[in-house]
Amino acid sequence: MIANKMQSLVANSSAIRAMFEEGKKMAAVVGAENVFDFSLGNPSAEPPAAVKEAILNILSEEPVNLVHGYMNNSGYEDVRKKIAESIQSEFGAAITEDNLIMTVGAAGGLNVIFKTILNPGDEVLTFAPYFAEYRNYCENFNASLTVVPADLNSFQPNLQACEQYITAKTKAVMINTPNNPTGVVYQEAVLRELAQLLLAKEKEFGTDIYLISDEPYRKLAYDGVKIPYVLEMYHNTFVGYSYSKALSLAGERIGYIVANSQMVDFKATMDALNVANRILGFVNAPSLFQRVIGRCLTAEVDVNIYKKNRDLLYQHLIECGFSCIKPEGAFYLFPKAPIADDKAFCNAAKKYNLLLVPGSAFGCPGYFRIAYCTDFDRIQRSLASFSKLAEEFNLSN
Ligand code: PLP
Repeated sequence: MIANKMQSLVANSSAIRAMFEEGKKMAAVVGAENVFDFSLGNPSAEPPAAVKEAILNILSEEPVNLVHGYMNNSGYEDVRKKIAESIQSEFGAAITEDNLIMTVGAAGGLNVIFKTILNPGDEVLTFAPYFAEYRNYCENFNASLTVVPADLNSFQPNLQACEQYITAKTKAVMINTPNNPTGVVYQEAVLRELAQLLLAKEKEFGTDIYLISDEPYRKLAYDGVKIPYVLEMYHNTFVGYSYSKALSLAGERIGYIVANSQMVDFKATMDALNVANRILGFVNAPSLFQRVIGRCLTAEVDVNIYKKNRDLLYQHLIECGFSCIKPEGAFYLFPKAPIADDKAFCNAAKKYNLLLVPGSAFGCPGYFRIAYCTDFDRIQRSLASFSKLAEEFNLSN
């Protein structure tokens, strides 16, 4: 019999699978081109040409043992060095390859961080709305996730509420900017205030509280908006990064963690991250793609593809009468549902072949998420469906 803990996890994944099955059924009736599946955050922009070129060149130029063999659990030193130098030059952060370990995407990186710092019974705080997997990752290590209620006016971290939620059991505070599901970029002033709050709480409780910034959408920002780099705002900070979205390589599972050198027990922490990467069964991040990243540090996906989608869809939703904060990054919109029951609303949307995700899946009921990482054509064709949905709920002005 499967483990007790797994039973509810399997039941939850069935809900996601059910949505996928629903899409397939819809496609059989109305044709795949008329299903407006906005449920999944799978990058639609192509990886930059430099990625394919790097793969081909690596396979013809680099020694087979180097490309495919085991290595230090932290990853190739030369690749880590190049990444560290690029972080140094972009953000002025005082780091080297010794601050950095290569991971199996952001998801692998977060599990490695949690394995390193969490004891059973510890609490991790995050801000609603949040990426639902965080709860599972905490529970992997018998720790729990506590969710600070959203600031619905801005979707910035709600610091006033946060202060009440931090206790002696709080081991870490997780942030995600640009945010999934809102697309909001957390402001520098808010992040600096959060850093001050954590320092004060460390003193008050005599504990270590880590700040973990999950940043798989860092490269997807629009209109020249700058995403503050939190690493050196606070001593006990980890930044988790991933190339899943930045280079549209979600299936290749490649990213890294970087830690602030001022962190308590820095050296022991880096050693522990290294061991955690090994014993969680990752062993090391995928070798070929580490080599690829080493050659593609300046490559970028064309973010204008997502910006064009955002602009069209946001404009249309507002014209239809939906209310929504204009996202500055990632590839999600998070409008307010016109009724309190976000699940009923998303069910109603299916009539118009729209697959949307209820905000309650992100700890923020009363809203819904649209993942606009899809073809521009499909977005154009979906507009009439959003209009009909708005009419059904009497939103039109
Ligand atoms: N964190 C957030 C906020 C995400 O949205 C995702 C994926 O959608 C991940 C982490 C996991 O990313 P990765 O593919 O790099 O593991």
